[in-house]
Amino acid sequence: MDIVVQKYGGTSVADKFKLEQVCNRIISTYNKGIGVVVIVSAQGDTTDKLITKAKEYVSNVYEREMDLLLSTGEIQTVALLSMMLKDRGYNSIALTGEQAGIITNGDYGEAKIVKVIKENIEKYIYDGNIVVVAGFQGVDKFGNINTLGRGGSDLSAVAVAVALDAKECEIYTDVDGIYTADPKIVKTAKLLNTVTYEEILEAATAGAKVLHNRSVGVGRIYDMPITVKNTCKDVQGTNIINIKYDDRGEILENYGAKIITKNDKVSKITIVGDSLISYPEHFNKIFRLAADNKIQIIMISFSETAINIIVKEDIADKFTNILHEQLIDNKILK
Ligand code: ASP
Ligand code: MG
Repeated sequence: MDIVVQKYGGTSVADKFKLEQVCNRIISTYNKGIGVVVIVSAQGDTTDKLITKAKEYVSNVYEREMDLLLSTGEIQTVALLSMMLKDRGYNSIALTGEQAGIITNGDYGEAKIVKVIKENIEKYIYDGNIVVVAGFQGVDKFGNINTLGRGGSDLSAVAVAVALDAKECEIYTDVDGIYTADPKIVKTAKLLNTVTYEEILEAATAGAKVLHNRSVGVGRIYDMPITVKNTCKDVQGTNIINIKYDDRGEILENYGAKIITKNDKVSKITIVGDSLISYPEHFNKIFRLAADNKIQIIMISFSETAINIIVKEDIADKFTNILHEQLIDNKILK
């Protein structure tokens, strides 16, 4: 039996009306005799609201309980969607990440998927169920719930598709596919029929919100066909493909600029000092501090008197403190 994984993002599952459209899409695929595994996000801005709520209640960050709290958003969606499918007379089962066999490495808030135990989902598919799985979450070897990082349901979808050897991973969203720029910002942005894994991996890492970058990374490694489509319209969408070379080893794709993206969720940290560039050990120290504290450096540049580091906005204060403590308080730069 062919299996297709369909992932529906937050806006696609935001309310009852939207979920009814999602049901229609799932059912029309299921009725073709295809095994359907559905991965969903939390409804609308549920995850943002849960984060705001936690900040209102406590002043410190408690990673384990925060992940537990955030995981409830997706659990609500799977329960509702699965009940709606049953209401229409279809066999369906809702699974948390843990019940679906999604095993993570224990890094709260940014966990990596270690493996997907495919038998957990498979037995339900072969029993004729539409399997609805909570995205963005998994369980570590100690039974703790981990989340995968913001937008991580895409990653759940691609990982599950790879584990089940699915025919395709369809990512349903509120736009027609991948554009030359964010169509919400650039009105003249054009829809792309195809992009390569490399192109969308770059764009997603640079801030394009259409897909989670790590999901593209997994898709590329395992050669999983990914299509980005509109939940509300029957349009072809964008296919993510491998770079095609002709027999002279040349790329047959379009040359030149293809996607323009912006990212306003980043911060620039600047270290100022004399003759910085002449002391490469500063770079060693900075990268070591970033690695030890699980901070991703997005970009780094340097001049004689300044090192500029770009990191995600939400960890910029923390990293500024660490750098100050290690480089200035400890006089490493002297
Ligand atoms: N609900 C999570 C978030 O808002 C995961 C996702 O939507 O993919 O980041
Ligand atoms: Mg998303």
